[in-house]
Amino acid sequence: MLCIEQAVYGLLIAENNSELQTLYFVSAAVIGFLFVFSSVIPVLLKNKTSLVYSLLDILPLGIGMGIAYVRMISVSTSFFNIPTVYLAILYCGSVIFLLSYLQSALLYGIILCISIFSVGRIIPTDPSIPFAADFLINGAIAWAVSAVTYNRFLRTENQRLLIEVQNKQLTFISEHDWLTGLYNRRKLDRYLLNKDSFTSAILFDLDHFKTINDTYGHQKGDQVLKELADLAQSLVLPDEVVGRWGGEEFLILTHREGYAVAQNLREVIAAYQFAKGITITASFGVAKCNQHQSVQALISTIDQNLYTAKLQGRNRVVYT
Ligand code: GH3
Ligand code: MG
Ligand code: MG
Repeated sequence: MLCIEQAVYGLLIAENNSELQTLYFVSAAVIGFLFVFSSVIPVLLKNKTSLVYSLLDILPLGIGMGIAYVRMISVSTSFFNIPTVYLAILYCGSVIFLLSYLQSALLYGIILCISIFSVGRIIPTDPSIPFAADFLINGAIAWAVSAVTYNRFLRTENQRLLIEVQNKQLTFISEHDWLTGLYNRRKLDRYLLNKDSFTSAILFDLDHFKTINDTYGHQKGDQVLKELADLAQSLVLPDEVVGRWGGEEFLILTHREGYAVAQNLREVIAAYQFAKGITITASFGVAKCNQHQSVQALISTIDQNLYTAKLQGRNRVVYT
């Protein structure tokens, strides 16, 4: 648009073979080249979110504006006295660095009003006054267009980043237990599909946990569960898995010998003072992860072993 407009001005407004006509034609050619340049380069760029990519929208128009400015002062240095030149520069800076599209459109309206009045007052007899208005309008339109493009780029980019963050949060929520922060049942089920990469599975359940709730209240019970989760987490290796299987039952998938891991955790729990003074024990069912055994069979075995541990008096590990 800007390119065609400049060419039309050169043909219709400026005198034939005048300096002004050459300037219009040169600026039409440069703006045309910059348009093609800024259309081709972004397609070739791989990283569509880089600063370079977004600047490609603004840069050609900035250069176009610069050309208009140079063109104007080359016709008459008296244009330095036109406050609108400085207002236009201020406008460009504000559009790029500070304002939203709506705000920049408002600012443009104000600057346009000031320019229409002030240009005529300062140099009322100068024949190039329409040229000054041309400069301002071209520049302002160019920057309004670039502001739209740039803002759209920023909006899309911000939305993309926001969606990325939200996706991460949703993934975390869908895989973790809200109270303890451990993996939840859904995530554990997924790990169990890969059970053969672990040596043993351990299922443990707190003993007489109901009496903790009844004696100290549900909130203290929650705190015990949180501290227990931290304790269990601190005793597994980074590439091992611990998660909340249900209410006060937890599952561990370990690369080590399950019986020893369970015995160690059982002793640590029994010796620990939860919520500054509550003691509690846990019962454990342990089984080896066997390639020929289904996930259901493994769960059934550790569940059975846990049940046996409870029957045998609790605070113990049953392993088959
Ligand atoms: P056992 O030794 O046979 O396992 O006895 P128990 O009392 O631990 O077992 P039971 O299944 O009877 O009770 C489990 C209790 O765990 C009941 C329930 O209120 C409590 N519980 C489950 N989830 C939570 C929780 O998120 N917070 C709290 N505070 N309590 C919970
Ligand atoms: Mg229990
Ligand atoms: Mg239970």
